[in-house]
Amino acid sequence: MISEGRLHLAIQKSGRLSDFSRGLLRDAGLRIQNGKNDLTARVENFPIDLMFVRDDDIPTFVSDGVCEFGIVGRNVLDEFALGEAEPRFEVVAALGFGRCALKIAAPERLAYEGPQSLEGTRIATSYPCILQDFLDRNGVSATVVKMNGAVELAPRLGIATFICDLVSTGATLEANGLRPVETVLESEAVLIRTRKTLPEDKADLSTRLLSRIDGVLATQESKYIMLNAPEEALDEIAAILPGAESPTIIPLVGRPGHFAVHAVCQESVFWETLQKLKGAGASAILVLPIEKMMM
Ligand code: ATP
Ligand code: ZN
Repeated sequence: MISEGRLHLAIQKSGRLSDFSRGLLRDAGLRIQNGKNDLTARVENFPIDLMFVRDDDIPTFVSDGVCEFGIVGRNVLDEFALGEAEPRFEVVAALGFGRCALKIAAPERLAYEGPQSLEGTRIATSYPCILQDFLDRNGVSATVVKMNGAVELAPRLGIATFICDLVSTGATLEANGLRPVETVLESEAVLIRTRKTLPEDKADLSTRLLSRIDGVLATQESKYIMLNAPEEALDEIAAILPGAESPTIIPLVGRPGHFAVHAVCQESVFWETLQKLKGAGASAILVLPIEKMMM
């Protein structure tokens, strides 16, 4: 049911990235038809079809141009890219979810003094290309043992001494008597786009889609700040406001020399920031979430 004139976006069918990927698209205003178990779904209010696939297939689909876009973990993407002569996709946005790290872990009691401790050992992983690249960059030669799952069992089974696996909390490692010793890659979900040239109508749609997604990503961090301040404090306050461009300054009725300052802050606003603003002379400080934004 691939249709002409519509974009195609591949997301993970079921797994750690599925709900976040759907959530992002919903926040971008896309209404997804159909249930979770179908292979494809039509977006009702935007000319785009979703394809629900295994995350490992997403880089291939996007590279071949079967799908113009895909959402996938950087770990899966890098592993794929290292096996390609030339990348046929590009990363267009880091999405801030699916965060994890690819780490080398060692048995708890084994001494580890840096990458040279890996020399001549066996390391089990589902990411042989990324691991080999790390070993090469560190001038270490070791045997990479490819496993498709249950990598953390390898040391206990005597298949390898070290493992190189995805870690988020480290609880799985600990449960298997392992400790992380080296970070090979910090990963999060990314949006990728095919490098194939798109016909004009699809290129336009793709710009529209990206501007919506950029808008969602921008609002996730952004806040609208309102505060009151005396004229002499305005410069200092403007300098404190995190990531704000040209705040709006409005005179307060009945309070000469006092102004309301409104600004969109593109970075997180912490309590410490509010404290500093207050210290600089601001009062009645309000921080509001932003629902939608288009730059
Ligand atoms: P599929 O059936 O699609 O092949 P999978 O088993 O390969 O699924 P998941 O376990 O759902 O994949 O993980 C998908 C992605 O989520 C990973 O590739 C990684 O980018 C990210 N991720 C985030 N946290 C973790 C974690 N703690 N362990 C593994 N992956 C994680
Ligand atoms: Zn997978």
